[in-house]
Amino acid sequence: MVEIDVNSGFCFGVVTAITKAEEELGKSGQLYCLGDIVHNAGEVERLREKGLQTITHEELGELKNVKVLLRAHGEPPQTYATANLNNVTIIDATCPVVLQLQRRIKKAYNDGLEAERAGGTKPLIVIYGKNGHAEVNGLVGQTNGEAVVIQDLDGINSLDLSRDILLYSQTTKSLEGFREVVEEIKRRKTTGKFEYFDTICRQVANRMEKMREFARNHDVVLFVSGAKSSNGKVLFEKCREVNPRTYLISDETQLRPEWTAGVDSIGVCGATSTPLWLMERVAEKVEHR
Ligand code: SF4
Repeated sequence: MVEIDVNSGFCFGVVTAITKAEEELGKSGQLYCLGDIVHNAGEVERLREKGLQTITHEELGELKNVKVLLRAHGEPPQTYATANLNNVTIIDATCPVVLQLQRRIKKAYNDGLEAERAGGTKPLIVIYGKNGHAEVNGLVGQTNGEAVVIQDLDGINSLDLSRDILLYSQTTKSLEGFREVVEEIKRRKTTGKFEYFDTICRQVANRMEKMREFARNHDVVLFVSGAKSSNGKVLFEKCREVNPRTYLISDETQLRPEWTAGVDSIGVCGATSTPLWLMERVAEKVEHR
């Protein structure tokens, strides 16, 4: 028996971005996207065939009078400024959850500046997230580059803990990791205020437990995810914790017959960036093994 996990696959932020891209491609047949629209090579290729061209930030600076889609991860203000300067029309597919977080951080930063102008002190804005990740870059951009990014508990060593601290999280980090960071800062902080905001997206956090349940209920789990997806790596590890016979593959060509030989119950699941059609292909190949 092969079962595809109903809780796997694109979150609504990614679905919306792809829908916007397809709408535009249906009209004009050509659209640029700043960075991969989703961390999945198969889906990027499917959209490339329809006319979606992925560009880098450097390439954005060289384009003029075209349309560029900003993906669900969001972008720092500098990207909008560059587009404006070059008469580039932005199709903004920033996920509403990310957009709200950007606004929150921007407000906190501006409030800090005001407090400083009034003779007070500016809090240190800290983001628990992956350094260099597109969403994190967009968040740091709201603070004129001043926010400090910490990836794990070790990152706390780089913080000036004597300052007031406001801690936020990248939307796709694990709740568990965030709580650990909060507890460790609380433990070490002896002066100044510490406020923390759980800004983890429940589209991801909630699926973690459901997916672990799914992994537990199958003899073998095939986790389908692109190599670039950080959310994929986190979810894969969570599945492997409860089922050691969990294998990470990016598509059906990486399946190994020995993984599923003589096995009754096989589960196929994936990251928030894994398209359903790819999980279906994997399931089909396994069924016909
Ligand atoms: S994981 Fe959540 S915040 Fe991130 S794009 Fe999806 S819906 Fe938006």
